[in-house]
Formats: sequence, C-alpha cells, structure tokens
Amino acid sequence: STAHIGITGLAVMGSNLARNFARNGFTVAVHNRTAAKTRALVAEFGHEGAFVAAESAKEFVDALERPRRIVVMVKAGDPTDAVIREFAPLLDEGDVVIDGGNAHFQDTRRRERELRERGIHFVGVGISGGEEGALLGPSIMPGGSPESYASLGPLLEKIAAKAADGTPCTSHMGPDGAGHFVKMVHNGIEYADMQLIAEAYHLLREVAGYSPARIAETFRAWNRGRLDSYLIEITAEVLAHTDAATGRPFVDVVADAAEQKGTGRWTVQIALDLGVPVSGIAEAVFARSVSGHAELRAAARGLAGPTAEALSREAADAFAARVEQALYASKIVSYTQGFHQIRAGSEEYGWGVDLGAVASLWRGGCIIRAAFLDRIRVAYDARPALASLLADPGFAAEIGAAQQDWRTVVAAAVGHGIPVPAFSASLAYYDALRAERLPAALTQGQRDFFGAHTYRRSDREGSFHTLWSGDRSEVRTD
Ligand code: NDP
Repeated sequence: STAHIGITGLAVMGSNLARNFARNGFTVAVHNRTAAKTRALVAEFGHEGAFVAAESAKEFVDALERPRRIVVMVKAGDPTDAVIREFAPLLDEGDVVIDGGNAHFQDTRRRERELRERGIHFVGVGISGGEEGALLGPSIMPGGSPESYASLGPLLEKIAAKAADGTPCTSHMGPDGAGHFVKMVHNGIEYADMQLIAEAYHLLREVAGYSPARIAETFRAWNRGRLDSYLIEITAEVLAHTDAATGRPFVDVVADAAEQKGTGRWTVQIALDLGVPVSGIAEAVFARSVSGHAELRAAARGLAGPTAEALSREAADAFAARVEQALYASKIVSYTQGFHQIRAGSEEYGWGVDLGAVASLWRGGCIIRAAFLDRIRVAYDARPALASLLADPGFAAEIGAAQQDWRTVVAAAVGHGIPVPAFSASLAYYDALRAERLPAALTQGQRDFFGAHTYRRSDREGSFHTLWSGDRSEVRTD
C-alpha cells in the first residue's frame, strides 16, 4: 500500500490525469474495467513515473496508502454509480472518493450524502482543459468536506495549471455539489464566449466583407489586447486553416450544425430553476440548437431578407473596431450573468463559494482562461459582496465606453439580416438593468386583470387588486 492516489477509468482523461500525477512525483495506482487499457497505459508511459497497475478492484484498493484517495474518471451518469457501488464496500472510514467526470451537481449531492452515511468522503471535482489540460495542468474545481480537501488539496495544487502569478488553478469551492456546479457554469460561459466570437466572425465576414484569413489577423490583433484569451487564440488558428482536400478555408467546408454534450443546457435549466437571468448563455445554447435544425432551415431558406450595401474599405475597418467593443461588452455581460448564477447556487445550497477564488482558478488551464479573469478576481477580492460585475467601477467604465459602438454593431447586424442573438441579448440585459422603469408594471397589470394575481405599488406598502370586472376600484389584499 504505497500509492499516493488511485485512478480508475483510463480513457483519455483518466490516463492523462494519471500521467500528470506520476510526472509530478506521485505514485499512482491505475485501474480500468477493461484491464487491457491499464496494461497499455503502463507499457507506453510507465517510464514517466511510478505506476502500480491493478487488475482487480481489490488489488487497486490494497495498493493505496490510507486514508485512500480514489479518482473515478469514467463516463458520467450510471457508470459513476456502478463504480461507486463496486468500490464502496472495499473502502474504510475516512477514505476519499473523487469523481472527476462531468457529473450533474445534483447527482454529486446525492452521492456525497450516500457515502457520508458510510463515513466515506465524496468529492465532486470539475475539471476543465480537455485532454491536454488533464496532462499538462487543468483547472480543477473540487467540492466536498473540508477534511477531504485537506487530504487531497496539496496533490491537486501540484498537478493543476498555474496562473501567470504562479497561483495553482484550484481551490476548495465548498461542500458537496459546489465544484460540479461551478464547472457547469464554466461550461455555460464557455458556450457564451464561443457564440459571441462566432457572431463577431459572422459580422466581419458578411458586413465588413473580410476573408477568413483577414479575420484570423483581426483576432490575432485583438488577442494582444484586452480580449487576450485561449478561445480568441484558437479561433484565429481555425480561421487561418486551409482545407487540404479543396484548398478552401477550413471554416467554409465544415457543416454548419453545432453539436453539444449538455452542460450548457444544464446551466440554463438550473438558471431557470434559480430564477437567474442568463440570457447570453441561453442564446448561445439555442443558437447551436437552431443551427442543427436542418429541416427548419431548409423550409425557411427562401424567406425575404433586407437589402444592405457592403461597407467600403475604410468603413469596414472602422466597423471591425466597433465589433471588438461589442464583443468585449457582451463578454462582460456573460461573465456577469455566470457569476450571478454561481452566487445564487451558493446561496441556495449554502456553499459559501468565494467568487474571487473562482475567477482566480479560471485564469489558467481551462477553456475560458483569459487575461480578463484577473480583472474579475481583483473586483471580487476588493468587494466580495459585489452585487453584480456591472457594479464594479472598472467594468462599469469599460462597458459605458463601449455601449455606443455596441448599439451600432447590433443595429448594423439587424440591418444586414445577420443573427446576433448573444450580442443583442447581452445588450438588452444591460439596458434592462440600467432602466429607470421597466414595462414589468404593465405585465403586473395584465396578470391582475386576467388572474387576480395582485400587484404592489411603488408609492405604498402592501398588495393590491383592482376589481377589473366590477367598478375598477382598488382593494388591499394582504
Ligand atoms: P469516457 O467518458 O469516454 O468514458 C470511458 C471510460 O469509462 C472508460 O475507462 C470505460 O471503461 C469507463 N466505463 C464506462 N462505463 C463503465 C462502467 N459501467 N463501469 C466501469 N467503467 C466504465 O472517457 P473520457 O476520458 O472522455 O471522460 C471521462 C470523464 O471525464 C467523463 O465524465 C467526461 O465527461 C469527463 N471529462 C471529459 C473531458 C474531455 O475533454 N474528454 C473534459 C473534462 C471532463 P472501459 O475501458 O472498460 O470501457
């Protein structure tokens, strides 16, 4: 029993995490349902560090120092429960079971409860960074008991990505489902970031008349400024790529139907349950959905669109600069909405998530890593109770400086018939929050008219109902 940590489930993520632990000096017990994969991993990468190959579950748990740390990296859903059922009877009180898969946080809460009754710590860990991150340093979002973090944290801090200032991209998010919840919102924000970039591309292509290669150059330039991020960087790579078979831009030969695995959908479903407006993220999920409806698109293809002139060369360059403003402003809104959702989840489930710590660990390793996140960290570290990122003086000033260009870009998109659901939803959120009066007053009047749902007044306390089908006098109902 010498291994510091064990990993069961050796597909791409599990194998790469095991190698990451081993390369950092830990002895790693490895196990997989199909033992051939375990043998193949050790045969190919055994020279990278100390591995203990275990063929059976019993051999695996016997190889681990106590209290044991077991990382489960199997397909999310029923396989995770099957593996827990198999291992739990072999474990002792105080052992730590870590689920590194993309679990739904409600499943994590249930599993944590069930294992806690047996004295076993269950840690739901969100891991971002894909295959490469798992190997070279991912961003890691663990949720579980403080005792489990005391045992596991030092190992995670070793294998995690490091931010530019050297801080490990991991920290204890809170109890039970907190880690998987934060990972879920990370993915929601990732959807929004990707959709916003896609809309910027679409505008540069169709309104500014830029070629994919020219747009790649534009993104490279933006990546040297405040939009500096992994997603902008890889977007430039994808746009600059030429299809070998046809010699055409790669982006022109790929089928334009975006797929999804479901974490963006979860973010929106949970946001609806919590009553959090994440309109930018929702539009990003719906945009993928629209793109995949081939039959609807075919049926609508002949519908009328606007007549709009292509821009002149100078006008196109000025427009491109405005698109950068619109993209940056919309990005601030996506993060505002995502952090609001984390705060709401944390309050609902009593997690005490530190929003500055979330921004800090997203600075490296994960898909949404960006220079921008350091600004968010600073904002929340300075004022942990900040109601909204838009209330941070720095972000308020930037979005204020961008808002006129943002409107011009959304208006141009509408004029040219280019769909910009995430740009426009983000702008609508901004305008709704800053409005002196919203038409929600009228909505309340309608609700009271047809359903006697009552309303409150802005000039007096209490709930009221107007006798709409009687003499239209007002009665107090509370
Ligand atoms: P997969 O999700 O493809 O899962 C394959 C692994 O699960 C194999 O080891 C397989 O064993 C095992 N498995 C499946 N069913 C069972 C079962 N009933 N009992 C025991 N083992 C089972 O692997 P990935 O490496 O892609 O992902 C692992 C987890 O990490 C998933 O939850 C995924 O969502 C998450 N994740 C993935 C990322 C990525 O970029 N791919 C990024 C972040 C998280 P066998 O070899 O015997 O079939």
